[in-house]
Amino acid sequence: MATIAFIGLGNMGLPMAKNLLKGGHTVLGVDLAPANIAAAKEAGLDTSKSAGDAAVIADVVVSMLPAGPHVRAVYGNAGGVIERARPGTIFIDSSTIDVDSARAVIAQAEKAGHLMVDAPVSGGTGGAAAGTLTFMVGGTEAAFAAAQPFLALMGKNIVHAGGPGTGQAAKICNNMVLGISMIAVSEAFALADKLGLERQKLFDISSTSSGQCWSLTSYCPVPGPVPTSPANRDYAPGFAVDMMLKDLKLAQQAAASSGASTPLGAQAASLYQLFSAAGNGGLDFSAIVKMLQGK
Ligand code: NAD
Repeated sequence: MATIAFIGLGNMGLPMAKNLLKGGHTVLGVDLAPANIAAAKEAGLDTSKSAGDAAVIADVVVSMLPAGPHVRAVYGNAGGVIERARPGTIFIDSSTIDVDSARAVIAQAEKAGHLMVDAPVSGGTGGAAAGTLTFMVGGTEAAFAAAQPFLALMGKNIVHAGGPGTGQAAKICNNMVLGISMIAVSEAFALADKLGLERQKLFDISSTSSGQCWSLTSYCPVPGPVPTSPANRDYAPGFAVDMMLKDLKLAQQAAASSGASTPLGAQAASLYQLFSAAGNGGLDFSAIVKMLQGK
């Protein structure tokens, strides 16, 4: 059994760490927030004062942090994980961060003799608790093989996307499709309303025609046609507007630094930004339909 340092015990991190503990490993939790450390102790985790201290005795380090700068600092700073871990330690960063930071940290880790993957997730806090997350994994074959048994304790679908950074690339490309397609479906419902076409009729026709997509058939933004969609519970998330906005901004940053052309992604980011600035950042992202309906 391995000793695992788990850095970042927030909404996602703590339930993921609990699943590693359930798998029989020793888990050393690290977080800056005293309340999260208390919750980790209550869940039966050991804890450590700093990521560097935990890394010294770890076989594996998993991180679930807010954004790129946190990941760069925790791994790369003097006294951080890369400097203090024993050579050959396996690093798994599951935070959703920018591709450039993911690649820079992995390169630094590999230079110091460690194995590292970027392994962002989809599945939300429900998937984290149930151990059914999807992991999109970027890294060498050797790093993927080393990380896989630990990812399998936290998730159900584990996909090797390619070399370093491609896990993050997969995550932001997928979510860019989702953000754009939700706006497309919402605009169609707004137009249908104006044209006197019943919502259920549009749903029945489009869901068996060429307009069919996940945003329509699984996550319909108007109440009624899909009883499980957030539209039927006043747009309680789900996947919040501000989370979608974060991922769309990461996609725009990646498009700018790689020279890709993503005009619809840019437009989607500015529409969610507008909706968030009006005080709707905590609603499910499908609530964007309200802005498009002029409500
Ligand atoms: P969160 O804010 O609840 O947790 C992040 C934790 O990291 C906090 O507890 C914070 O105290 C801790 N932290 C920050 N800096 C630290 C440091 N230097 N050392 C130790 N701990 C530190 O966020 P979350 O919802 O758990 O999300 C984490 C990541 O997962 C984000 O990148 C997010 O985009 C991604 N994600 C979240 C969801 C979701 O549904 N919440 C779904 C998919 C992906």
